[in-house]
Amino acid sequence: MILTGKNYIAGLISSKGKTTFKAINPSNATELETTFHEATIDEVNEAALKAHEAFAIYRKKSGKEKALFLDAIADEILNLGDDLIALASAETGLPIGRITGERGRTMGQLKLFATVLREGSWVDARIDTALPDRQPLPRADIRYMQIALGAVGVFGASNFPLAFSVAGGDTASALASGCPVVVKGHPSHPGTCELVAMAINKASEKTNMPKGVFSMVQGASVEVGMAIVNHPHIKAIGFTGSTKGGIAIFQAANNREEPIPVYSEMGSTNPVFILPEALKTRSEDIAKGLTGSVSLGVGQFCTNPGLVFLNNDENLQNFQKLTAKHFEETEAGTMLNKGIKSAFDIGIQHLASNKVDVKLLAKGKSSLEGFKGSAHLFETTAKSFILRDSLEEENFGPSTISVIADSKEELLASAKKMKGHLTATLFGTENDLNNYSDLIDILEQKVGRLIINDFPTGVEVCHAMVHGGPFPATSNSRSTSVGTAAIYRFTRPVCYQSFPEDLLPEELKSDNPLGIMRLFNGDYKR
Ligand code: NAP
Repeated sequence: MILTGKNYIAGLISSKGKTTFKAINPSNATELETTFHEATIDEVNEAALKAHEAFAIYRKKSGKEKALFLDAIADEILNLGDDLIALASAETGLPIGRITGERGRTMGQLKLFATVLREGSWVDARIDTALPDRQPLPRADIRYMQIALGAVGVFGASNFPLAFSVAGGDTASALASGCPVVVKGHPSHPGTCELVAMAINKASEKTNMPKGVFSMVQGASVEVGMAIVNHPHIKAIGFTGSTKGGIAIFQAANNREEPIPVYSEMGSTNPVFILPEALKTRSEDIAKGLTGSVSLGVGQFCTNPGLVFLNNDENLQNFQKLTAKHFEETEAGTMLNKGIKSAFDIGIQHLASNKVDVKLLAKGKSSLEGFKGSAHLFETTAKSFILRDSLEEENFGPSTISVIADSKEELLASAKKMKGHLTATLFGTENDLNNYSDLIDILEQKVGRLIINDFPTGVEVCHAMVHGGPFPATSNSRSTSVGTAAIYRFTRPVCYQSFPEDLLPEELKSDNPLGIMRLFNGDYKR
């Protein structure tokens, strides 16, 4: 498949700018062939304008029509075949097997949203029929449903070149809700972005969607992204990436003349608590599983367990010895890009520097080839953790800190002190979980997903998933970026009062022509 290195604006290929860049293969630190053209501000403006124009048509498409579009995107991604897999692997250093799995996940989430659209009840229709005889005042007929917000800007992350990128979760949920999308391609995998943009364009043509329903602009500088955020036709942002980037975009969006919602999914350290009986009875299992979870994908998951809380009891040393052995046996792995590798190395140096009361317990195998990162296991005390905010910060890569508490009170105090995270995990027996129910209470306030006796890496795409959490894990804890509930990030409720039947949307007509579930005078029914 031939890459153009250009931008995809409302179905047309465009390269007006002079600034170019190339992708780097992180396995060997060499440049890949294609030259990519960074979008100009004019090109971004054109994409936003076309998205705005397309919105008028796209928002009126039925659930079934939008479902066909999403299914077609999934099919066209599959039709890209091995070229997509090979290029994504070359641009990210992620193994072929991982990319193939991620392609399945990406297609699966598009198809899952398609099923939601076909079923139709997601619009959350509510109907309170008129009560003309009510005393002292009659009640009007009042009907409510969720509608699309408008054009959405999407920023994907480097660590999921398919599932959190051009046709990733943010794009799928925005298109499902009825919003056109302008994607900022990720400069770490621009070729992958272009191939997926081609697939979306084909799907859009095949299903007769308005041209501006999708655009993708390339860029390796913040200007392109900020032009999307600041464009008056952009009505919401979905972002996955670094804390620095997510906060900058959130602030810019709030400073606009018309502020817009920003869903920034950022970093997280995902605390794991290993409770006393579990530590005693399942040391080897947990030590091995923890090492696997920390080093999975070279630790480049937002759900990577970066903090492990343990009680200082007679089983601690054995567990630490077992975990250290597994860490030492872990091979070095290719990190996504030079910036991520150097940020990881700086984080490791900071932890190992003696300035933060942390000691290095074990280091995995190392390699100088490409941008390779080695697994690191550190240890500190709960007292130090409580005093030092920096120990809670994400060090994106295969590293974790064991935090040792001298008492249950110290463990609870550490949990209370924590900021927002995507997940928290407890390993415990039934007894442990009963004895630590107060810990669960605290953690419920801190995270989007609580896990018992399993590791946080691996985020199922389903209806009940929450991939979010209080700040700084995200900029808005009231939602999720994974799973079908993500659709509500790009909608708002509208209420229709005293509307004649023929002016009501299909979803709210009295005879329920779509057969969807609705809250009808206080009762859920079809
Ligand atoms: P990143 O450097 O923030 O980049 C993400 C995208 O945002 C890129 O397109 C980047 O483009 C753009 N961007 C970054 N800063 C910007 C700014 N100030 N203004 C405008 N655009 C900006 O993140 P990454 O390196 O891809 O991903 C790694 C991080 O993502 C990790 O910290 C990880 O934990 C987090 N992550 C979170 C989740 C989650 O669901 N919470 C999932 C995956 C990853 P330019 O480089 O061209 O500016």
